[in-house]
Amino acid sequence: MKRISIAIDGLSASGKSTLAQGLAKALNYLYIDTGAMYRAVTLFALREKLIDHDGSLDEPAMREALSRVYLTFRFNPGSGRSEICLNSRNVEKEIRSHEVSRHVSVIAKMPEVRDKLVLAQRRMGEVGGVVMDGRDIGTVVLPDAEVKFYMTASIEARGQRRHAELVRRGRTVPLEEVVANLQERDRIDSTREHSPLMQAEDAIVIDNSDLSIEQQFDHMMACVQQVLDA
Ligand code: C5P
Repeated sequence: MKRISIAIDGLSASGKSTLAQGLAKALNYLYIDTGAMYRAVTLFALREKLIDHDGSLDEPAMREALSRVYLTFRFNPGSGRSEICLNSRNVEKEIRSHEVSRHVSVIAKMPEVRDKLVLAQRRMGEVGGVVMDGRDIGTVVLPDAEVKFYMTASIEARGQRRHAELVRRGRTVPLEEVVANLQERDRIDSTREHSPLMQAEDAIVIDNSDLSIEQQFDHMMACVQQVLDA
């Protein structure tokens, strides 16, 4: 059975990672959450105090500090997924905070950050048998991926989802603040100069505002199966 590459891009909180994990598990492929990598660099920048109270980033200091950022994924049998480690420490929980979400798009705009992470992502993806999700996977990281999906949903659906996720983690961030963060990230991610969020020409678009996870999974799996059977 051939082992292909599957790229999943889309807006913030459009359900990419849930579906990507489901597909990877069903196919016994490696799942790579590239958003986690940008989040981990952001956590590093916050810890190093490279981001000011007003949200501005000390870019020269960040550029210099990048060589001290070492990212790896480690499989956690408890959660059943690969979790991100920053300089050998598991930071999977910390990177999901609202604080990291607030600053991540500014970090992700920096060309030096993108160059470093894209290189690592391509290395992880070159062997095939991979499901990778992010913003530029089908366009930049794995342009030759055999199957590409582009996921989208209404801002209401995405806001509710991300809010529920934060509540599950014990955080009380008002829904309006969550929605405002998603809109701001969508704006920065789609308009940045360096590899902005864009739908690849050959991507299959999935608007999941009114689709259950099972419906999305079945549809996406059928698309993958078609390619595997070809
Ligand atoms: O996917 P997630 O919402 O965790 O991604 C967090 C942020 O990381 C995005 O808002 C975006 O700024 C950045 N990102 C990116 N390119 C990727 C994945 C994520 O710029 N491939």
